[in-house]
Parts: sequence; structure tokens; C-alpha cells
Amino acid sequence: MNYNRILVTAALPYANGPVHIGHMAGVYIPADIYVRYQRAKKRDIKFVCGSDEHGVPITIRALKEGVTPQQIVDKYHAIIKESFEQMGISFDIYSRTSNKIHHETSAAFFKKMYDDGLFEEKETEQYYDETAKVFLADRYITGTCPVCGNPNAYGDQCERCGSSLSPEQLINPKSTLSDSVPVKRKTKHWYFPLQNYEPFLKEWILEDHKEWKPNVYGQCKSWLDNGLQSRAMTRDSTWGVKVPLPGAEGKVLYVWFDAPIGYISATKELTDKWADYWCKEDTKLVHFIGKDNIVFHCIIFPAMLKAHGNFVLPDNVPANEFLNIEGDKVSTSRNWAVWVNEYVKDFPGCEDVLRYVLCSNAPETKDNDFTWKDFQDRNNSELVAIFGNFVNRAFVLMHKLCGGKVPKLHEEILDDNDRELIENIQQAALKVERSIEDYKFRDALFEVIDLSRKGNQYLQKKEPWKKTDDQKQVDNCLHLSLQLTANLAILINPFLPNTAKKMLHMMKVVDKMLDWENAGKIKLLSVGYSLRPPELLFRKIEDTEISAQVEKLKTGLVKTVGSGQAANAPESQKNDEKQNLKPVIQFDDFAKIDLKVGTILSAEKVAKADKLLKLEIDLGFEKRTIVSGIALHFSPEQIINKQVVVVANLAPRKMKGIESNGMILMAEDADGKLKFVKPEDRTSDGSSVS
Ligand SMILES: [Zn+2]
Repeated sequence: MNYNRILVTAALPYANGPVHIGHMAGVYIPADIYVRYQRAKKRDIKFVCGSDEHGVPITIRALKEGVTPQQIVDKYHAIIKESFEQMGISFDIYSRTSNKIHHETSAAFFKKMYDDGLFEEKETEQYYDETAKVFLADRYITGTCPVCGNPNAYGDQCERCGSSLSPEQLINPKSTLSDSVPVKRKTKHWYFPLQNYEPFLKEWILEDHKEWKPNVYGQCKSWLDNGLQSRAMTRDSTWGVKVPLPGAEGKVLYVWFDAPIGYISATKELTDKWADYWCKEDTKLVHFIGKDNIVFHCIIFPAMLKAHGNFVLPDNVPANEFLNIEGDKVSTSRNWAVWVNEYVKDFPGCEDVLRYVLCSNAPETKDNDFTWKDFQDRNNSELVAIFGNFVNRAFVLMHKLCGGKVPKLHEEILDDNDRELIENIQQAALKVERSIEDYKFRDALFEVIDLSRKGNQYLQKKEPWKKTDDQKQVDNCLHLSLQLTANLAILINPFLPNTAKKMLHMMKVVDKMLDWENAGKIKLLSVGYSLRPPELLFRKIEDTEISAQVEKLKTGLVKTVGSGQAANAPESQKNDEKQNLKPVIQFDDFAKIDLKVGTILSAEKVAKADKLLKLEIDLGFEKRTIVSGIALHFSPEQIINKQVVVVANLAPRKMKGIESNGMILMAEDADGKLKFVKPEDRTSDGSSVS
């Protein structure tokens, strides 16, 4: 099929929190690379996205925080949009599903399906909170687990014993919103009979799209093999797109019905020619998503598009797997995540580094792990030591040996090394192109870095600095090195757009040079053209920056209690925290406690006491021995040199024959895990805490 235009969508982020690097690696960076490449190919392409602003979690969060759902989505829409801009995600439009155009578009979509008789109407009984006046999803009902007696089991699952539950099975069920006892109420909803589309989906995916990524194809196959069922496409709520039918007050479209239609409304908002992109058969529609959204984009939305009629179906849905952090699954409720809005503050000017690391380590075929050490290694030993180093050497040598100008190419004396380099440039351009078209962005990026590695090897073989008596040889080497640099700018541009821009500036050429038709050519820079001195493309990332990030991640849990992120914590946990509060004290009571910052100088196990560690603490003004019950949580080596907060005026106490002079402050989470309480940044020992 020959396509005349491309429409790329990226999953709509849910506007009840900021975006983290897992989102970037899975969806937005690959989508942006694909789009920037296609733009450089001069293809007709549109890139649409926006915030997904409806759904129950947003209303619940608003209830908890005592604000309106609109205030929640306004806040996070702004944060998310800014993060994307800072990371150079080049949407043609970043819209939002609370916009009027989206409400109109999705309501009309539903109405057309309704008028065509494509829904089933069903009345069912669901739990209702009479105090909060809302229907409750199973997650929002808690009670005692009938299996293990856990008093904080959820209506769908007990997290202690792992039993799968329904709200009826809970002993003493109550609503997490109001603590009232939920009652059953009848409610009517419109169901989409997905089973009617099974034959179509089987043929369309399993027969016609065998080229889809194995993780996507496999998940679709398993859904289809298990058989599809009717799904309710409406919900009882006041927040969302109102069901456009008489007698449907208090009902809105299911968020997964309206959200994908957000792609259509965003395109409408972007261009009057939106129908070209959605309705003409020669459009290539590509959805970039994470693996948790595969069923919605490969099964439900295509079935909706097919049922409605007049729309093209996706040509591909290159979903990625998940990115874990430091060996652990990302958890927004535990704040185990690297947030993009914080990264750009902590590493200003290093947006391309994050793009690089997340692409070269992208979870394209399986879950992958992000570690800060790997981040540092990839920056220091690939971007700095290979790519940046080659470009810098080529420029420095050209200024030193060729007077700051592009030297002539003397074709009559080209040698095998020169010819091999030219061949490598042409090959790399083809390989990068092929890999991007196949959605293999890691492979593509590897080729670019590999080409710069070959550039370094070429300089090493030619050693132009030793040939100052043979200017023709020097000229050829630097001429080709500079043409290679120009090619590297073109090839790196979809991945690291800021870096490509810096390179253009150094070469004093215009954006047009980055057109993909120039890739593989070796006459991009004219002979005699003077170039600027080199700028540093990447800086080294220091150990201290990395340990600060690891520390930030590990202490994140403690730090965010009471802030926005903790609002995601399971309700049961938060209720416990309320119940655990001790009686109120006056300020004078608190002022009696002397808290000081100290550093752990040494730590050793205490004989015959497997919970105790004997610590020597430097309080600045004196050294102290403190016995602490943390041996099951930390090994002695692990904690040496850590800064801690000490209760410095606690009466001495003997433990296993050792006198302990103080106590170290620890935070304990719901699972009993201990974390040190400590100053955010290192401070001088002996500092007072109040
Ligand atoms: Zn249980």
C-alpha cells in the first residue's frame, strides 16, 4: 500500500499526575523519533496527543483533595504539557479531552452508533455510596477479607493473601469515600457487543497484520482466543462526556470510549483537513502506546471505528513493554519513579541525554531496567567518549591543520580507509532509515553511534596530526571527517534534536541540511567554507550527581508523605496513619527534644543480638556510640558515611552491655521497611533540626 499521509498518535496521558520516564521511554520518545524522521523525509505527517481528563480516578482524587475535577486536570495538564515541551516532544497539537470540541465529537460518535442500533441496553445492580452520592468501583469498597481476616481488603482483591474478591464477599464493607455502608442500586448502561466484531478483528489482526510486533500480536491473539464480551460504554458519573440521550442524566461515556476519540478531536482542532487523515484510505495511522493499552487500541477502538464506519484503521500499533527503575517496577503510589519535571530541573540542558538513554535502553521487546549508573555510563562512555569526542576532534583538527575551513578532497589520492569511510556513511544512512521504518529505534540509534565510533577509528588510522608535511593527506582526512560530522547531524536529529541544532550552528548551515535526502551524501559542506570553533555537545556526568539521584529515589517515599503523590496511596494505608496518631502535644513538649545531624563513622554487629548495630556517630562537636535496632534492614558497610538525624539528649540506655547515647530517626512504611530520615542535601554535622 502506498500511503500519501501519516497520522501518528501518542497515548493520551492521564491528567492525575506528572509523567515519568517510563511513559517517555514507552511512548513519547519513540513516537517523536518516528515523526521527526518522517518530517525530515518531507512526508505529510501530523502528530497528535492530549491529556485524558475524564474517568473515576480523577473524580475520586478531587473528592479527597477537596477540589473540583477541573482543578485537578488543569494542574496536571499544565505540568504534563510543559514536560513534553522541555523534552522536545514535537506534537503538532497537544489538546485535552475536557475541550468542547472533544465533547461534541465523542458525543456525536456515540450517538451515531446508538442510532445505528449498535449498543445493548442493560440494567444491573451496582454498589452506591449514599453519602458521597456516587456509584462505587470495587476498588473503592473495603472490608475484612473472608479468607485471611485482613481488615483492609479491597472489593476486588485482598492484598495480604492475594485472594480475588467481589464486594459481596467482604465482611463489614464500607465505602472508602465516606465510610458509609454501600447499598446496591439499579442502573442502566449501554454495552458494546464486542463479540460481534470477533470475525472482523481476527481477520484484520491475525491474518492481515502478522507484521505487528510479537508482544502486540501475541496479546491480541490471546484476547481473541479467549473470546470477547459486551462491555459497558457508559458510567454513572457527573464528570465526563454526557451520554447524549434523553433520560441519561448523571451518565457519562466510559473513559476508554471517549479517550481514543480524543485523537480525532485533536486532529479536528489542528486542521480543517482532519478528515483527510481519518477517512482517506491512503492515510497511514500509527498508534504509539504502552503495553497496558494494547486491548483498547487494537481491539476496542478499531471495533468502534469499524462499527461507526468511515474511518481508517491503524496500520500499526508499536506498543512497548514497561521500563523498571533500579530493578523495581515503577509505582506512582510508592513514588518509585523518575519524574520528567524533576529531571529537567536536576539536569538542565541534558534533555537529549535522557532521550538517548531511554531510546538506547527502550523496552521494545521486553521489560527493561533503568538505573542511574547505566544512565551515567551511557552518557560518559557513549555520548561524551564516542559521539561528542569524534565531532570535537574533527573540528579541533580542522581548525589546527586546515585554517578553520573545509579543506579540499583530492580524489586522486583516496586510499582504502577513505573509501571505507564513505561506504560506512552510506550504509549507516540506509540502516538507520530501515530500522526507523520498522519501529526498531534502538537498532537505529545504535547505527548512528556506531558510525561515530568508525569516525574515531578512521582518525586513529589516518593520524593527520603526524602528516603535516603532506597537506593533501591531511585535507582528505579532515574533509571526510567533516562530511561525516554533517551526516551525523542528519542521522542523530530525530533522536537528539538539540544536539543536531548545536552541530548545525558549529557548521554554520541552515536547518535544510537536515533533510533526510542528504543522508549518506558526502558533499554537504562546501570546500573553503569556514566553520565555527567546536562547542561541547555533552558534558560528563559526575558520580555525586548519580548518588544524589539514587538517594532521592530511595528517600522519595518518606519525602512525599502528605504531598500530591501520596494521594495515590491505598486508602487503607492512609486510614491507618490517621489512627496511629498519638495524642496532641504542646510546642514546649516538642522543644525539649534536641535533634542533631550526624554522620555514621562506623557500624558493627552486636554479638548475640541479631537486630542490633553498634554505631559510632560524628555529631560535629563530639562522637557518640548509639545502638540501633536496624541490623535486619541494613548491613554495616551499607550505612557508613550516611548522614542521619539523632535524638541527642535521650537519656543513656544499656543494650547488651553497650551504653547507647541517643537514637537515630527512621521512617517506617506500611510494610515495616526502614529508611533513614536525613537532610535533603549533605549539611554540616552538629546542625540542629527543628
Ligand atoms: Zn485475605
